[in-house]
Amino acid sequence: MLERQNKMKTDDPSAVARAAAMKEFRPADRGFWSHVSDLEWNDWHWQLKHRITTLPQLQRLMPTLTPEEHAGTMLANSKLSLAITPFFFNLIDTSDEGCPIRRQVIPSIEETHTAAWEMSDPCGEDSHSPVPGLVHRYPDRVLFLVTDRCASYCRYCTRSRLVSNAAGYDFHPEFDRQINYIATHPEIRDVLLSGGDPLLFSDEKLEYLLNRLRAIPHVEFLRIGTRIPIFLPQRITPELCAMLRQFHPLFISIHSNHPRELTMEVKAALERLADAGIPLGNQSVLLRGVNDNPLVMKAHLQKLLMCRVKPYYIYQCDLITGSAHLRASVRQGLAIMSALRGHTSGYAVPLYVIDAPGGGGKVPINPDYILSRNGDRVLIRNFEGKVFEYPEDREGRPLISHHQMLAGIERD
Ligand SMILES: *Cc1c(COP(=O)(O)O)cnc(C)c1O
Repeated sequence: MLERQNKMKTDDPSAVARAAAMKEFRPADRGFWSHVSDLEWNDWHWQLKHRITTLPQLQRLMPTLTPEEHAGTMLANSKLSLAITPFFFNLIDTSDEGCPIRRQVIPSIEETHTAAWEMSDPCGEDSHSPVPGLVHRYPDRVLFLVTDRCASYCRYCTRSRLVSNAAGYDFHPEFDRQINYIATHPEIRDVLLSGGDPLLFSDEKLEYLLNRLRAIPHVEFLRIGTRIPIFLPQRITPELCAMLRQFHPLFISIHSNHPRELTMEVKAALERLADAGIPLGNQSVLLRGVNDNPLVMKAHLQKLLMCRVKPYYIYQCDLITGSAHLRASVRQGLAIMSALRGHTSGYAVPLYVIDAPGGGGKVPINPDYILSRNGDRVLIRNFEGKVFEYPEDREGRPLISHHQMLAGIERD
């Protein structure tokens, strides 16, 4: 049934045309900043300095602000600050209350609605921190939080307890303690820099950190989690790329949720990183009214491949306090995964995961392709819903023919 629905949707010629339109690379509009010189606009410091951070600014730029957004913005500074780069702000369709870009960054009063099962630290990071700012949840790798600042703030941020410091967490990472922990734990072979956004650091500060990590012999693999290529592609300068390429193997995971985020400028920034030899992955969050639709998600993932980015994860939205209005159901996530696997390039298909509430870590969630496992076969279905069987004996050994079995006995 599900398969049939998805097929109908994607084979419909108007759906094909809509997907093609979503995948077009457009230059980001200059919008309200048409008077600004190219030099300023393309300067990442200019973009940061001119971020939208206050209600009066937002009201001036967006006369269509709804009462819910107005009230949400008034309260943002006691929860998760408001900040949007001019570059990203211009992607908002201000005439559309349901704009998928708008939903991600404009505060709403719904953020103050909380449910009993929501948490301020839904992934249980604080309880897995041996030293402040270091999360050691998995055996061989750590999450190294380097800052509480981002270029813009996502309203569903899973780390909003500390990010932007609006809630008074007072995050002060002590690099010496964090690095010392990694240096004295030889099982750590993979360090993931995140935050906040590590690419907000100056090239010099980031280079200093990466050098110290590279000096630890057992650290094999470095990665950076960042949304800067999306919020602030101007930051991805040739100098930054030249600095980063000294630290290979270094991977970068970006965070993008909707095809409209992938503008010409963003594509060019991602290409600069890829040309520096940095393998790029993407992490999306399944968000209601943003990408909880097979057509939008598929167009987005295919567009990422065109930017040389491999879709890595789709996250079920964490149970972060005040995120109910942005969360989609697991059921819908599974329907989207069914609409992807087999229907498009395997490279475009990420892993769908739930970061288990309370600190269980990432758990992969898959549509069921195994229908049953009996004594002598595994029954499977393909992406079209057709059923197949693969022989296997009761103990899980591959079935062999009578002839092969006799040959085996003779050898013994
Ligand atoms: C996501 C995450 C990692 C990295 O997990 P991978 O599946 O290897 O990408 C590491 N530590 C923590 C705490 C994480 O949340």
